[in-house]
Amino acid sequence: MFTIAGPCGIENKELFEQTISFLLSKDVKYIRGGTEKYRSDPLSYQGDIKLLEVVKELKQKYDFKFVTEIFKVDDYVKQFEDIIDVIQVGSRNMMNTSLLKDISSKLPYKKVMFKRHFSSSLYDFVEHSKYLETNEIWYCLRGIQSLFPGEQRFQPDITDISRLREMTHEKIIYDVSHAACRHRFVPTLAKAAKVYGADGIMVEVHSRPSIAESDKMQQLNFNEFSELMEDL
Ligand code: PEP
Ligand code: MN
Repeated sequence: MFTIAGPCGIENKELFEQTISFLLSKDVKYIRGGTEKYRSDPLSYQGDIKLLEVVKELKQKYDFKFVTEIFKVDDYVKQFEDIIDVIQVGSRNMMNTSLLKDISSKLPYKKVMFKRHFSSSLYDFVEHSKYLETNEIWYCLRGIQSLFPGEQRFQPDITDISRLREMTHEKIIYDVSHAACRHRFVPTLAKAAKVYGADGIMVEVHSRPSIAESDKMQQLNFNEFSELMEDL
């Protein structure tokens, strides 16, 4: 089982560089980080797509594969095509068929990590993935809407790994961070993903989770991540 790790959002060069050099020392090849962020609250941190410039600089210095969400395929994004190794389609865009068609026609050779919408059936998830007809798809489960959002906004859909396995031969990634909602629940879920036979896990890691601009409650710090890797 391989690991995709990195911060929820890239806040600045310094913090992202700390995380990259730490993760490379742990043999993580795929590093994630959002530049634009989808947030329910429009007044909260939205990210900044210009941070792709920072990633471009860091890619010249470090050897890693970069996984990031895109919202559209425009000239600006095309300019950074070479530094994005895996395009993330976020859960809220699972049903954005014009984005999916655009990715398929304009970025046909890119791998796409396709995230399940938190209220989608597995059937709809797989059907929508067919819009990405030219791309290699990594199917990513990330937890579903909880019945008790006051306690926990999303809840794990871990058993759906088995069901999805009957529906596709492509890679299945389990996003342990969004499914767990809290960093203390991440390690058990990551081990469960391994038992269920996920091809990979995605885990949010931040050098200082308490100052993260998004998803601070679920990101692992470096010690927690090191322990998890040893346990796995
Ligand atoms: C993310 O991966 O940081 C993210 C926003 O995920 P999702 O689209 O699943 O909410
Ligand atoms: Mn996140």
